[in-house]
Amino acid sequence: FNAAEGQSISRHQIDSASAQFFPLCMSGIQSHLRKNHHLKHGARRQYGLFLKAIGLSLEEALAFFREEFTHKMDSDKFEKQYAYNIRHMYGKEGKRQEYSAFSCASIILNNPPGPEDCHGCPYKHSSEERLRAALKAAKIKSEHIDEMVALSKINQFDKACTLHWEVSRGQEKGPLSTLITHPNQYYELAKEAAG
Ligand code: SF4
Repeated sequence: FNAAEGQSISRHQIDSASAQFFPLCMSGIQSHLRKNHHLKHGARRQYGLFLKAIGLSLEEALAFFREEFTHKMDSDKFEKQYAYNIRHMYGKEGKRQEYSAFSCASIILNNPPGPEDCHGCPYKHSSEERLRAALKAAKIKSEHIDEMVALSKINQFDKACTLHWEVSRGQEKGPLSTLITHPNQYYELAKEAAG
């Protein structure tokens, strides 16, 4: 999946984009980051590559993560331990490789989160209690939450995520003509639907 050419987002627009257009996996990481001022490696990579694909530039990504992380560490430590990884994700260090954002299949099948982690797919990796709490916080009605939980219990994570997309856009938009298979597809379609 490729993000739309030439689109960009600033770090100051991320909270509002997260509330409106991010799938549950990414809005969960954004909330965790704002609350804890830190992300462990799995979340930094899953989220960093997602943000890059929605058009956050390297300079904005460095400023965004620096502002949060330096609530808890000095900027010297940030530069030494974290800035390299961010530049690496943007292909500016190491092998200078272009890395793509992870698909749902890759998030669901690889690198499962441990108890301290906040990455992964909430439909696959969160307990029912945590999934319900996250959907409630996203203002999803309880009958839809029941449906999404039921779908996730039978491993239909794509259908649960697609239903989240549909009910967040309002029923008047009708069902989505495709299933969500990539977090950036969720984002692009949500932005498109908002016009
Ligand atoms: Fe994210 Fe994909 Fe899971 Fe949706 S199905 S929450 S986009 S990983």
